[in-house]
Amino acid sequence: MIDPHHPEWQAVAASRTVLLAAPRSFCAGVERAIDIVEQLLHLRTTPVYVRKQIVHNTHVVADLETRGAVFVDELDEVPDGATVVFSAHGVSPAVREEAARRDMEVVDATCPLVAKVHAEARRFAGRGDTVVLIGHAGHEEVEGTLGEAPSRTVLVQNAAEVAHLDLPDPRRVSYLTQTTLAVDETVDVIEALQARFPHARGPGSDDICYATTNRQNALAAITDESDLVLVVGSANSSNSVRLVERADRGGTPAHLIEDAGELRAEWFTGVRTIGITAGASAPPGLVDDVLAALALLGPITVSERETARETIQFTLPPSVKPA
Ligand code: SF4
Repeated sequence: MIDPHHPEWQAVAASRTVLLAAPRSFCAGVERAIDIVEQLLHLRTTPVYVRKQIVHNTHVVADLETRGAVFVDELDEVPDGATVVFSAHGVSPAVREEAARRDMEVVDATCPLVAKVHAEARRFAGRGDTVVLIGHAGHEEVEGTLGEAPSRTVLVQNAAEVAHLDLPDPRRVSYLTQTTLAVDETVDVIEALQARFPHARGPGSDDICYATTNRQNALAAITDESDLVLVVGSANSSNSVRLVERADRGGTPAHLIEDAGELRAEWFTGVRTIGITAGASAPPGLVDDVLAALALLGPITVSERETARETIQFTLPPSVKPA
């Protein structure tokens, strides 16, 4: 936390320019997922369980928890017949089957753009292809997508892993990607895949979602001018971590922060221009808090650089739509 009276913070007091990347913060899938939980808390008198973090942000989860949502890791923590929300990252069919078997009321907050990737996985596996899923092992979205056709899907995390793929029929290969990958790095993996398997077929439209792409482009537009980049987001937020890596690759020191409380004095020595963005699961108010904190170090001039305008909205499931 910035303490303007502490000598270490006084040593880095200065007037500064802040470049705000736009778009930043919440995407349509995250807004929809949070809306679903909020509506259910309003509509139900019984407990509302949420499997996994509804979106990957500590503040969002803590806020919903305070308002009554019960977050669990797995369905075995949910009583039979209870209301359960599936998170924005999606679930495997096995999870859906367990919820149905145990008579739960499921309200699905899977982002429609993640659901698109699931549908492709089913379609590609259904036509007899091996599906190469490009993504990060252990991420909830990847776990869910892998579960659509586990015996026909293999995961690759980078271009180097493509060389080790041993597929049953090299002419029957499709590929998909996690929605929140780095756009530039994923191009390399797809090129490696197509070089090894020239018949490999991809999705009709990109799996990396509009929000991920827009936030990466917006940050790229301010990175060169910035002495320091701050990305607001949680450590388990894939798209937030990709933003930090994007700035680092551009040669600008970058830090991922949950909130203004994580700012460190040593980052600001010699820094005159600060680039700020936020991952798709980070509430916009957290960026406002960071700006207010930076203003404690001296006057700041804030300039927003908008590289795209987002108008996408996703409708709520019928069971939680306001009347
Ligand atoms: Fe959907 Fe993309 Fe937002 Fe994830 S980051 S919730 S895929 S719009």
